[in-house]
Amino acid sequence: MAKIRMLTPLVEMDGDEMTRVLWKWLKEILLEPYIDLKTEYYDLGLTERDRTDDRVTEESALATKRLGVAVKCATITPNAQRVEEYGLKRMWKSPNGTIRRILDGTVFRAPIIVNGITPYVHGWKKPIVLARHAYGDVYNSVESRVKAGQNAYLLVTDKDGNEVERKLVHSFDCDGIVQGVHNLDKSIEAFARSCFNYALENKIPMWLGAKDTISKTYDHRFKDIFAEIYECDYRAAFEKAGIYYMYTLIDDVVARIMRSEGGVLWVCKNYDGDVMSDMVATAYGSLGMMSSVLVSPDGKYEFEAAHGTVTRHYYKWREGEETSTNSVATIWAWTGALAKRGELDGIAELTAFAKKLEKATVETIESGYMTGDLIPLFNREGVTPVKLESRAFLKKIAEKL
Ligand code: NAP
Ligand code: MG
Repeated sequence: MAKIRMLTPLVEMDGDEMTRVLWKWLKEILLEPYIDLKTEYYDLGLTERDRTDDRVTEESALATKRLGVAVKCATITPNAQRVEEYGLKRMWKSPNGTIRRILDGTVFRAPIIVNGITPYVHGWKKPIVLARHAYGDVYNSVESRVKAGQNAYLLVTDKDGNEVERKLVHSFDCDGIVQGVHNLDKSIEAFARSCFNYALENKIPMWLGAKDTISKTYDHRFKDIFAEIYECDYRAAFEKAGIYYMYTLIDDVVARIMRSEGGVLWVCKNYDGDVMSDMVATAYGSLGMMSSVLVSPDGKYEFEAAHGTVTRHYYKWREGEETSTNSVATIWAWTGALAKRGELDGIAELTAFAKKLEKATVETIESGYMTGDLIPLFNREGVTPVKLESRAFLKKIAEKL
């Protein structure tokens, strides 16, 4: 076949460790033979981030603003041990955090569904996509310990420091604790728009849960902002697409999720999303089967796998041992980005190729060929699962493709 032409390049963000190894193989085996691949390459590997004082991360995010679509490999977020291991100048911030700050985006995580790998919750037939608000609440809180006999107040001042409002939080008759949290209308609005856009694009209903009956001002603000934006800008489009938006109490959402068959976008406040995303990911099986996309309110996309750099496998590989590392979520990062690029540039062939690659990947696993992490989860009548090494798995998908 003639290679598929691209118009606009993708922003390509390379990464670290085992996923960096998979990245190179994946391009060589599954992409470059079929596509005249055009990318603007940024090396987000830790060595290069250190050499450029992390400017490369910022530049890659700005490139995403300019070009609209990025594909990212997993990257190390350094801790003290990594600073020593790589001889770093500083403990650089999380690249994902930096990119999210610049794009002001929301992260959507969706499991990749394969026949033979059944979720722990048997009713779940379709993916549950989870959106987590990535600002405020307990993650930007101030806290204090309070002694018996002391009082804690919520105090609001104007810009000159004059008191606007003072409320007693509690008058302590024994030792205790107090916490102050906040959020911003503009952040909630951006979050709401990203979610409405995602639901529309993927044609799935959207559920937001909070606790407005208890938190009559704070959580209620989420409910009101979402409702207002929905009515003004999205209701008509949702109805046309045959989907709906629903707000209900978080406890009710949890109950509905458990008895649903999936196929919804579950919109979570920061803490709920932190906790529930781990539950949903685990219930669907393996971290290697969870895809992730950052969507900005103005429609820029950054696709990646939800897992990390798979360090333990990398150390083995570096010693010359073969590994059986799952590349499915990384394949989904590429197919997501290519399909979106094809859609934006009007290249139907490119979008179709992405869908074919996804289908070939799913069918490869369904026919019994997979990486080691999936073997204990796989159960399909008449099919005996075969464990393949990392590169052999990619080759097997290429055969199917
Ligand atoms: P991890 O890389 O996700 O791996 C944790 C464990 O999960 C692995 O040791 C492996 O289990 C299993 N696993 C994850 N992905 C797999 C795959 N594709 N195939 C097979 N097994 C897989 O998390 P981590 O070890 O906590 O973090 C490693 C590095 O990744 C850290 O430096 C962290 O900062 C970074 N990280 C980056 C991102 C990102 O860029 N988005 C996200 C998370 C973490 P077994 O060892 O039992 O086989
Ligand atoms: Mg968590």
